[in-house]
Amino acid sequence: MKAILVHQTGGPEQMRLEEIAVPSPGEGQALVKIAASGVNFIDIYFRTGLYPAPPPFSLGMEAAGVVESVGPGVTEVAVGDRVAYAMNRGSYAEYAVVTTWQLVKVPPALDLPQAAGAMLQGMTAHYLSHSTYPLKKGDTCLIHAAAGGVGLLLIQMAKMRGATVIGTVSTPAKAEKARAAGADEIIFYTEQDFEAEVRRITAGAGVQVVYDSVGASTFDKSLNSLAPRGMMVTYGNASGAVPPMQPLLLSQKGSLFLTRPTLAHYCANRPELLQRAGDVLGWIAAGSLHLHIERSYPMSQAAQAHIDLAGRKTMGKLLLLPHS
Ligand code: NDP
Repeated sequence: MKAILVHQTGGPEQMRLEEIAVPSPGEGQALVKIAASGVNFIDIYFRTGLYPAPPPFSLGMEAAGVVESVGPGVTEVAVGDRVAYAMNRGSYAEYAVVTTWQLVKVPPALDLPQAAGAMLQGMTAHYLSHSTYPLKKGDTCLIHAAAGGVGLLLIQMAKMRGATVIGTVSTPAKAEKARAAGADEIIFYTEQDFEAEVRRITAGAGVQVVYDSVGASTFDKSLNSLAPRGMMVTYGNASGAVPPMQPLLLSQKGSLFLTRPTLAHYCANRPELLQRAGDVLGWIAAGSLHLHIERSYPMSQAAQAHIDLAGRKTMGKLLLLPHS
């Protein structure tokens, strides 16, 4: 089968399309024939070495497809099921072996590319808005990279929970997209001082929570945008990892809470996974959550997908189609 492998961390040119053996499912595993694989920023962190993995390693954390075969002891899925998953590395490939507790069945109303596009960013937006800081009516949140894959879904879920949303974006096209998703206020954080804008919009009060996926370039001003006892949720590093800081700073800036969450700990077992994925896929199937798939690339153009995502050229979701 064809798969993308990285032998040495570095730029997009390090992603090599290679012919390797189709893997066999072991106990509690299934072989999935992948119809579509999601492209996520975490794939860039592995490729560059920000997140370490021993080389050679495969890329891609999310996909949807059809169960081709199962190993011993599998009860969750059967051959022929349409399934989707996230947080299992190796989805930039025609086939992948996945631990079956991580597989969810795709509702009939969704096609496989939609399911592949919804899992990782959708469940992330879900845990951020429902669990890390459960938004409620009366809250105002600041969402950075609001037109991104997570951003567009997070705006919609924040609105479902009754919060006011301030989104940051870099271009007018992204502003339009974020507004269409429900953002109440938009700040062009590449041109405007977003801390000053947040204070202006909130009449000096600050926001209850900042969802910050940008990292190094926004962290300090994000802390300064919070109301006393607000929560700083730093959940990504698109501009680089946040440097070390003194806990005392949290006291000086208003007895703030700081958390650095990751999806795996919020989908820690099968009931939690089924509940989150059930909500996300169910809302998309019902039409109450809109998934914007910006572009699908053949797997041979995976490097271009990374260049576009890292280059801030994209809105919403990017997919790879391994069999096209
Ligand atoms: P996005 O589609 O959001 O793409 C990243 C966006 O970040 C860009 O479009 C850009 O938007 C903005 N950005 C700001 N500064 C930079 C920079 N220097 N370089 C590149 N982009 C920049 O990606 P994803 O939806 O895949 O992921 C969003 C973030 O969420 C990532 O940081 C990712 O790691 C994180 N994440 C974390 C998870 C977790 O559980 N902790 C799970 C899933 C994602 P603009 O042009 O508007 O500035």
